[in-house]
Amino acid sequence: MNTCIFCRIVEGSMPAKLVRQDELSLAFEDINPQAPTHILVIPKRHIRSVQEAGENDAGLLGHLMLACKEIAKERGLAEAGYRVVTNVGSYGGQTVFHLHFHLLGGRHMTWPPG
Ligand code: AMP
Ligand code: ZN
Repeated sequence: MNTCIFCRIVEGSMPAKLVRQDELSLAFEDINPQAPTHILVIPKRHIRSVQEAGENDAGLLGHLMLACKEIAKERGLAEAGYRVVTNVGSYGGQTVFHLHFHLLGGRHMTWPPG
C-alpha cells in the first residue's frame, strides 16, 4: 500500500472531499481547515516538495498555480483576495511530504505568518 497519504487520495484508497481534478492535478478540502476556504491543490504524480521539482516540472507548477486561481474564482474569493502557500521541509512547516499548495480564503490573512 502507498504510504503517502496524498498519493492514496489520488488513487482513491483514502477518502477526501474532492473539489476538482484533471489529468495532472487534484484539489480537495483540507481536513483541518485554517480559514473558511482551505483547499489543497496537488500534482497527481508524487513530488516531495517544490524543492524536488525539476526543470521539466515548470509547466506542472504553473498548472497547479492556475488551478488555485480558477478555484478561487469559482469560490468567489478573487475580489476580496486570498492566499496561496506551499510549505517546504521542517522549517517551512511541511507535514505531508507530497507537494501541495494551500488555497486559503474567506478571512483576512495576517503577515508575517507564524
Ligand atoms: P503542510 O503542513 O503544509 O504539509 O500541510 C499538510 C496539510 O494536509 C495540513 O493542512 C493538513 O490538515 C492536511 N491534511 C492531512 N491529512 C489530510 C487528509 N487526509 N485529507 C485532507 N487534508 C489533510
Ligand atoms: Zn505522494
